[in-house]
Parts: sequence; structure tokens; C-alpha cells
Amino acid sequence: MFSFSKAKTDPKYIFVVGGVMSGVGKGVAASSIGKILKAKGFKVTAIKIDPYINVDAGTMNPTEHGEVFVLDDGYETDQDMGNYERFLDESFPSINYMTTGRVYQEVIRRERNLEYGGKNVEVVPDVPLEVIRRIKEAQAQAQADVTIVEIGGTIGEYQNIIFLEAARMLKQQHHKDVGVVMVSYVPIPGNIGEMKTKPTQYAARSLNSVGLQADVILARAAVPLDEKRKEKIAIFCNIPNERVISAPDVKSIYDVPGNYEQDGLGDILTDVLSLPQTKTDLREWQSFVDKSKNATKEVEIAVVGKYFSSGEFVLSDVYISVLEAVKTAAYHLDLKPKITYLSSQEFETGKTPLSELDKFGGILVPGGFGETGVEGKIKVIEYARTKKIPYFGICYGMQLAVIEYARNVAGMKDAHTAEVKKNIEYPVIDIMESQKAIVQEGKFGGTMRLGAYPCVLKDGTLAREIFGTDKISERHRHRYEVNPTFIPKLEEAGMVFSGTSPDGVLMEVAELPREVHPFFIGIQSHPEFLSRPLTPHPIFSAFIKAASEKK
Ligand code: GLN
Repeated sequence: MFSFSKAKTDPKYIFVVGGVMSGVGKGVAASSIGKILKAKGFKVTAIKIDPYINVDAGTMNPTEHGEVFVLDDGYETDQDMGNYERFLDESFPSINYMTTGRVYQEVIRRERNLEYGGKNVEVVPDVPLEVIRRIKEAQAQAQADVTIVEIGGTIGEYQNIIFLEAARMLKQQHHKDVGVVMVSYVPIPGNIGEMKTKPTQYAARSLNSVGLQADVILARAAVPLDEKRKEKIAIFCNIPNERVISAPDVKSIYDVPGNYEQDGLGDILTDVLSLPQTKTDLREWQSFVDKSKNATKEVEIAVVGKYFSSGEFVLSDVYISVLEAVKTAAYHLDLKPKITYLSSQEFETGKTPLSELDKFGGILVPGGFGETGVEGKIKVIEYARTKKIPYFGICYGMQLAVIEYARNVAGMKDAHTAEVKKNIEYPVIDIMESQKAIVQEGKFGGTMRLGAYPCVLKDGTLAREIFGTDKISERHRHRYEVNPTFIPKLEEAGMVFSGTSPDGVLMEVAELPREVHPFFIGIQSHPEFLSRPLTPHPIFSAFIKAASEKK
């Protein structure tokens, strides 16, 4: 890749804001903008702002908020951070994510420490100033040419006003260095059958009312914009025609950067920010996109989880990183992934017979918490083990595989996790010593074992073969661990703990030898957080390969 000759220009900022309604893909838009600018040779970093009081995303119910994405440094964030990392193929630090709660927490901490020197601390300007401080800090840490800042929610909401105020203040200070992209929704009401631009016009005016003007409008709609609508949006939202970009629904989110580039978005943005014009090199990305389209041979994967209550839309949001990791691993193997979500509760009640699982190449049990559907998952794991269906367990999916093995092979009949059942003879999964006091005091927020931890892999194991190295680092998010007391018994019965913490205390990977099962592995961490479209995670690739080879 060519590189943009450094320095001379000041750091640039692009605020991505939402018009009309949320849920139209602002995160993917921000990620795609970042991708394009990176493909132009600029150093890019991306920040997500969520207007919640929650200090992090870890305390939010995934069925309402979607996946909790964990960064290397352990901060629990919104799933959009996962999109940024996947599109930009980079890991970001916690300074790149903030919530209202996080910002206020810092302002109040400083006030208590007399850092405001006795003056009145005000919502405006002190809160937006803290937001700006964080944005500049993220820019500095990344040495970014362009810092993309996505403001969650929709313009006109009471909640995100201090963040829009921060954008306005930053623009007031650095007039030439700040651009605003509005991602707006253009509905086509069924009874009219025609695209309506008025909501977008109102959104643009609401933006004006907080002192900001959109430089670019990404018009999200079911279909591409026609010239007439483009002109209308341009005139009434006060921007040149070519800066209204048509953003129709696409089959795959990975098409979005290429689509925007066709409309010249990269050059428009460098123009808005007075950056040098460079060529956009999306070749590597585009060849991945082509691969994803050309695959014809199917690989069928069952994902067995409990978050089904709000329907499939939410489900795919809850496990988004897992699903993307499965998909991209498959594409790189020239396979077409077919993912089916199965509710663990339905295996528990018998509504879905276990034989349903026969048709899948592989079974994946992702991370999870609590009692609901647990026995169903354990039944599924037993079936995968005894019927020799490739199995991949992530976090809870690993812990439950250990429980299943303890119960059904190692003779520990009532084996369970202390998370679900207390006072049992075989708590094979137990709370970490360091976690006991935390839980007793009810300090749940941000206190799990979080972020990147090293793990060493044993020679001659499946894990060692998959990773191709004996030292790995993966991101974690859990409170419970394999209980060391029962490890000898589990090992005697044939379970292999192929990965441990460097001091050998914590079990990181559990597997069955190839002689007894074609592919059976569980990992305590969340490898999905490090899987990227251009570099799928090896454990996902190995699982998909095994699934495609199932007889
Ligand atoms: N509930 C389990 C624990 O806390 C697993 C967590 C997870 O799957 N992320 O240890």
C-alpha cells in the first residue's frame, strides 16, 4: 500500500450523525468512511459515542442493546466498535468509546479533586469540553490523520445534545478540520410508493438549529435515490448535489465501502477536509467481497443460544461478531455459510428433537450467562460429542462442554457451574477467588475478567495445530473458571486442557483428541472479537473446515 506523506496538515475530524431514525446502519457508514480514507493512505481512528448513562455497555441486556464488544484493554463497548475494528483491521483502545455516564463520571471525578480550581462546573461548556478532550486524546494516541466520531442516536433527541455541542465547539475552534456527515433515512411509504425527502429536510434543519451544517448526506433507503430526490435533498439541506450520496440497502455490509466509493465519497471527504487528493486502493477489500459472492458450496452451521425472545433481528445483533467470524472464515475457504439459529430452550423442552442437529456440518455454542436454556445447551453438546459432529464452544460454550464431559464421561453426576447451582458435589466451573468479594458487594459493572490475556498452548494438541504457535492472546469476558480441583479427574477421563494461563492456573482451551472426535474444542476467551474480514481467526477457520469435511 502506498502511503500518504506525513504531517503538514492538522488532524481532521468527521462527525457521523443520524437523521430521521436510528437503526439504519450509521455504524457501518462510519466504518465504511474509515475504510475508504484508510484505503486512501490516511491514518484513521474511529470513536463511538453512546448517549446512555451506563458507564459501559456491559450492564445492558444484549437483547435490547445487541452484543457487548470487548476491547483489548477490557472496556465493554457497543457492537459498532466491532464494526470499526473489522472494517479498519485495527484494535482500538478504550478512549475510543464513551457514554454520557463515562463522560460525567470523569467530570465529577475532576470536580471532586478540585481540578476545576473553584469555578462553577457547568453542563455547557464543561461536559462538551471533556468530550472534546477525549476525542483529541484518541486522535493523539492513534496519531490519526482523520478521526471519525459517530454520535449515537438521532439528531433532535434530548440525549445526544451535549455531543452535538462538542462537535459544534470543535468546528468553531478548527473550522477547516471538521466535517459533518449525516446518515439520513428516506422512507418510501407503502401507500404512496414514492420516496419522501421531507423527514431528511427536517433532520438537516434540526442539525442547523444546534449550529451544525451537514457537509455530506448519506441517504439510506430501500432503493437508490433518483436524480430528482437527490436535487431536492441538496437544495433543501443546503449542500451541492454531488454531496448527496445514495445509500440503498445492500445484501452484505461489506459492499458498502465500494458503493460509496462509486459515488466518489472519498474525494468528497478529502475535499471537505482540505486533505490532499490521493487514489483509493480498495483492491484487497474488493477481492474479499468478490470471494464472499462467488462461493457456491454450502457449509451449514447451527448456532445454539438462548437470546431468541425478540426474534431473529435481535439474535443476529447479539452474536454479531460470532456470525461475522463464521461468515468471513467460510468465505476465505470458498464456502457459502448457511447459519441457523436454534433455541437451546427448545432442546430442553424437546420441542426441537436433537436429531435436528444431524444435518449441520458443525455446532457452535457461543458465550452466555445464567440458567436459561443451559440444560438444552448441555444436551446439544452431548449430542455433538457422541455423534461426532464438529463442535466449537466459546466461553460459556466451553464451560458447558466441560460440565457435559464431567457428568457423562468422568462420572461426576451433578457437575455444574456455580453460576447456576450452588452447594453441589462437583462445581467443575466455579467463581474465581478474585471475583468472590466483588460479587458479594454487588459491584457488577466492569468487574468481570475482561480484555486481552495471554495463553500458552500445549504441544501436540489441536489448539497448538490450529494457532500454529504456542503463545496467544485473546479477549475475555467472564467471571467463572474451570475449577482446578477437578482437572485431574477430567484429564483422566480423556479431556485435554490444551491451553492455560502462563502460570498454568486458568484453563483456557479444552478439547478432545482427534482419535476420539474429528473436531471438539472449547475456548474460554472470545476469539470472535479478533476475527477480521481480511484475516479470519484461525479457530473459526479450523471449525468451518472441519464442518465442511463432516461425513
Ligand atoms: N457466564 C460465564 C461466566 O461468567 C460465561 C461468560 C461468557 O460466555 N461470556 O464465566
